[in-house]
Amino acid sequence: MDFAYTPQQEALRKEVRDFIAKAFTPEVYAEMQAENEGRPFHRTACQTPHLKALFQKIADRGWVGISYPREYGGQGGDRISQYIVEEELYRVNISISLGGSGAPAILAAGSEEQKRHFIPKLISGDYMFAQGFTEPRGGADLAGLQCRAVKDGDYYVINGQKIYTSNAESATHVYLMARTNKDLPKHEGISIFLVPMNTPGITIRPLWTIQNDPRPTMTTTYGHARTNETFYDNVRVHKSTLLGEENKGWRVGSMGLNLDRVGAARYLISVRRDEDIVNWIKSSREFGDYSPANDQAIRDKIAELWTEAQVCRLMTMRSMSIVERGGKFTYEGSAEKVWAPEHGVRTTEAITQMLGAYGQLLHGSRRAIREGLFAHNVMGSFQSGINHGSVQVMRDQVARRGLGLPRNRG
Ligand SMILES: Cc1cc2nc3c(=O)[nH]c(=O)nc-3n(C[C@H](O)[C@H](O)[C@H](O)COP(=O)(O)OP(=O)(O)OC[C@H]3O[C@@H](n4cnc5c(N)ncnc54)[C@H](O)[C@@H]3O)c2cc1C
Repeated sequence: MDFAYTPQQEALRKEVRDFIAKAFTPEVYAEMQAENEGRPFHRTACQTPHLKALFQKIADRGWVGISYPREYGGQGGDRISQYIVEEELYRVNISISLGGSGAPAILAAGSEEQKRHFIPKLISGDYMFAQGFTEPRGGADLAGLQCRAVKDGDYYVINGQKIYTSNAESATHVYLMARTNKDLPKHEGISIFLVPMNTPGITIRPLWTIQNDPRPTMTTTYGHARTNETFYDNVRVHKSTLLGEENKGWRVGSMGLNLDRVGAARYLISVRRDEDIVNWIKSSREFGDYSPANDQAIRDKIAELWTEAQVCRLMTMRSMSIVERGGKFTYEGSAEKVWAPEHGVRTTEAITQMLGAYGQLLHGSRRAIREGLFAHNVMGSFQSGINHGSVQVMRDQVARRGLGLPRNRG
């Protein structure tokens, strides 16, 4: 088995690197510094002129949605090429992802009209989804959701509350899971709606996370400074906003979540953090004569972490390869979702030990190392094992779908 990239894929990587070297002008960096919210920049949320122009240049090269079919605005390309472009841009804090599980779910389960309407607009950045799945009574038991959508002629009327609706403040639509039949077993009777955020009756309330105070620096690999509570009060939506069949939303939602776990993001969060540590170790001047690069314990540790990061990479490649070949993809994304965030926590713990007390100094502190990057990553790393499905729940999915164990009724 050969894990090497093809010459064309290597050429694409070089092309993206050359592009970055030229297009990331001092003006772009200045805007990134000023607009920084600690997470990668996404085109829908960027309104400043140089960043907007940068995203347009990226789009003009056909680099967004490479693996999506041409008839829906993509390039009909392969996932590895898309991954390569995403990887290179993510390293410089630019996200060109289509924003979560909405796009893969529409492609898999949407009507022709929905595919033609949504996918090109998600690729162009005119649309962006927030995901409205989790509710206050518990996200792990997603199938127990209580938000109701009641049919009223050609419309549905939605009432309920969601929590952790990240990006709701800048999204154009919410990809919303609601109960359409409360008499069916809990995994049934659920439907998904593609709801415009400006529909009357939607209220967004910010939910600030530990990463908001102080705001991290732009090089932080995490950056959920804000998520949201969202309230749906008699929100009336047309039946054309229903994705897939009524009461069959559980399968659509799970499939979308699983497919969204395939790709660059998870591996890159890990690898970026490892690279940041290695770069610091190589160039550290903070401790006078003591050089971390010559400390055997540190050398051993970073070699171990790098090896772990390669496992993340291989898991990602395997998942992409399965999806690319149209194979059965069930638990592999869950396995990645266990390994990558836990590797992340181990990485942040390791750098904290290497830095001692300095590892706790945040952005703004006079003696903070690399503007507090590593301390911010410690705080951020904990949510990565919770969002997008907690690692405990992911382990259970690996046990059931990967290893054939019975459903845990305990
Ligand atoms: C920063 C952040 C951003 C997020 N963004 C979004 C978003 O955009 N959209 C969205 O819909 N959701 C989002 N989430 C929600 C996320 O998916 C949930 O937090 C997650 O599913 C866990 O749900 P919970 O927090 O309600 O924990 P709970 O369901 O209350 O669970 C608490 C703990 O118990 C464990 N647990 C629960 N049940 C079991 C079980 N059966 N077996 C083993 N362990 C179990 C869980 O793993 C967890 O550790 C986000 C969360 C965070 C932290």
